[in-house]
Amino acid sequence: MTRHAPERMPESAALDLERVRADFPVLHQRVHGRPLVYLDNGATTQKPLAVIEALSGYYRHDNANVHRAVHTLAQRATDAYEAARQRVARFIGAQAPNEVVFVRGTTEAINLVAWSFLRPRLRAGDEIILTGLEHHSNIVPWQLVAEETGARLRVVPVDEQGALILDDFESLFNARTRMLAMAHVSNALGTILPVQEMTDVARRHGVPVLIDGAQAVAHQTVDVQAIGCDFYAFSGHKMYGPTGIGALWGRMSHLQAMRPYQGGGEMIRRVSFEGSEYAPPPARFEAGTPHIAGAVGLGAAVSYLEAIGPDAAGAHERDLLQYATRRAQEIPGLRVIGTAEPKAAILSFVLEGIHAHDVGTILDTEGVAVRVGHLCAMPVMQRFGVPAVARASFAVYNTRDEVDRLIAGLWKVNEVFGR
Ligand code: PMP
Repeated sequence: MTRHAPERMPESAALDLERVRADFPVLHQRVHGRPLVYLDNGATTQKPLAVIEALSGYYRHDNANVHRAVHTLAQRATDAYEAARQRVARFIGAQAPNEVVFVRGTTEAINLVAWSFLRPRLRAGDEIILTGLEHHSNIVPWQLVAEETGARLRVVPVDEQGALILDDFESLFNARTRMLAMAHVSNALGTILPVQEMTDVARRHGVPVLIDGAQAVAHQTVDVQAIGCDFYAFSGHKMYGPTGIGALWGRMSHLQAMRPYQGGGEMIRRVSFEGSEYAPPPARFEAGTPHIAGAVGLGAAVSYLEAIGPDAAGAHERDLLQYATRRAQEIPGLRVIGTAEPKAAILSFVLEGIHAHDVGTILDTEGVAVRVGHLCAMPVMQRFGVPAVARASFAVYNTRDEVDRLIAGLWKVNEVFGR
């Protein structure tokens, strides 16, 4: 195949792409003189007008602190904050809004569970099961509580394609197993984990399960009840919402049994110098003034995503992934890292003999934004024997023309390096 004969196929029929793209003002700009192609959605997605306007509208009209005053603006701010909680709860199939704790993002959600839920239950010799494809955010918090207590991590191995090797999965569980924590979708490989089946195994052994949904919620329907997990963590900014806001969903019985993670205003029922009585969840875990505008923006992002349908978004993105993967194979020296099925729309790759940072820099001069580096998943890099990769990750607004621009950019990289 030659580089000049891209396969032309119709864009996904289910989505009105032009309309979707019109919703995202940031996409309509030039970078280094070329129309921007934003393919770093795994790191953070762009924001639609609905979210930008929700943030702006909140600050223009309703801004006040929540839960604290009787005046009208305080009431409006509180209503908007709690309405966002309801939307998030419904979006992931929670039983009740109070099972949703607003946090800064996935990282804070996992740290909250590690310290408030697991740490008090952990003794020397206990075990925490993780998988070999986790983001650092789903490794280091567990490592920290394990180091403090003398517990240890056990890791589900990853095969050559990037799938988990589950033959011996059940044998990892024993009387000392206290937690299973795993990604729903790998940010480095795109692998979609069989979270429901793995949760079933853990539950048979009475082991609680946390799922890191950072790369899942914007790309497929998530139903925490159907999965059967105990905790589900995700970030607003990877699902078209603002940065600095995310959610931890937890079973109410667990949340009620957990000590607060931080102390401060909002999270107490009564305070004296002799001792304090904590508020019920979720307020117990939301010490201090929360990111009210962020929650409002996240609520708007949920509504935006629901209107499109996460499954429709995911189908469109997978279509782009298949097209991009096929075309990437035309490029001399390119090796895709992560070929397991089922796979979300994440295309990680290396160009033989060329450092990923050079790939990223040259693509940037072509207006194409990709992520390069270890992707906060160093164990995955070690598993595949590469120091770094380049990653194109797709969102609902990406197009086949943009994939063509990526591919043309990669030819350019090869050209610069004399290949
Ligand atoms: N887990 C996964 C799988 C991720 O992709 C990310 C973000 N790259 C995180 C956790 C951390 O998310 P945040 O930085 O929003 O806390």
